Amino acid sequence: IHFSDLGLAPELLKALTESGYTKPTPIQAQAIPIALEGGDLMAGAQTGTGKTAAFALPLLQKLLPLASSSASPARHPVRALILAPTRELAIQVEESVKAYAKHTPLRSLVVFGGVDIKTQTPSLMRGVEVLVATPGRLLDHIEQRTVQLGQVQMLVLDEADRMLDMGFMPDLKRILAMLPKQRQTLMFSATFSKEIKKLSEEFLNNPKLIEV
Ligand code: AMP
Repeated sequence: IHFSDLGLAPELLKALTESGYTKPTPIQAQAIPIALEGGDLMAGAQTGTGKTAAFALPLLQKLLPLASSSASPARHPVRALILAPTRELAIQVEESVKAYAKHTPLRSLVVFGGVDIKTQTPSLMRGVEVLVATPGRLLDHIEQRTVQLGQVQMLVLDEADRMLDMGFMPDLKRILAMLPKQRQTLMFSATFSKEIKKLSEEFLNNPKLIEV
C-alpha cells in the first residue's frame, strides 16, 4: 500500500515524498481512509507510530477545497483544532502539519501557555485554518476573544489519556461545549482506560475503533 492509494491530493503526496516517507505506517493505513470518509475515530496509538500524519493528512485533505490565498482574516477562520497536552507535543505537531501543508495555501499556528499571550495574538488574528493548542492557553484566547471557533469542522484530541492525567478534563469540556456540534472528531490515546472510553462516548459520535 502506498500513500497514493489512500486518495490523498498531489500537494500532500509531494510533501510526503520530500519528507522521505515511502509508505504509510499501520496507523496511517487504517486511520486515513476512515478519517477521509468523515466519520469519528478513536485510535489507540503510541508516539512513534506515525499518529501525527494519521490525523494531519486527512485533515489537510478535507480543508484543501476551502483554502484561499486571501490575506483577509475572515477568509481564514479556524477549521481544524488540534488539542495536545504539552507545549512540546503541540510544537511538534504543528511542525509536522506545516511540513505536510507546505505545498498548500493552508495556514497553521501553535499556541501554548508559559509565554506572553500577546506574542501569539497577532498571528492568531491574521487567521489560520489549522490551530494546534494546549487546552489552558486556548481558553485564555477564547476569553480574550482573540480566537473564534464557530467554523471548526474537525477536532483532534491528541494523547487524550495524557490530557486526562494532567487534569485537563474540565478545560476540554469547556472547549468542546463551544465547538459546533456538526463536526468530525478524531481521538488518539496510547491507552484505553475506563475514563478514555467515557470521554470518547461523551465527545465522539459513533466512532470507529482502531488500535495498533
Ligand atoms: P509520530 O508517531 O507521529 O510522532 O511520528 C514518529 C516519527 O515517524 C516522526 O519523526 C515522523 O516524521 C515519522 N513518520 C511518520 N510517518 C511516517 C512514514 N509513513 N514513513 C516514514 N516516517 C514516518
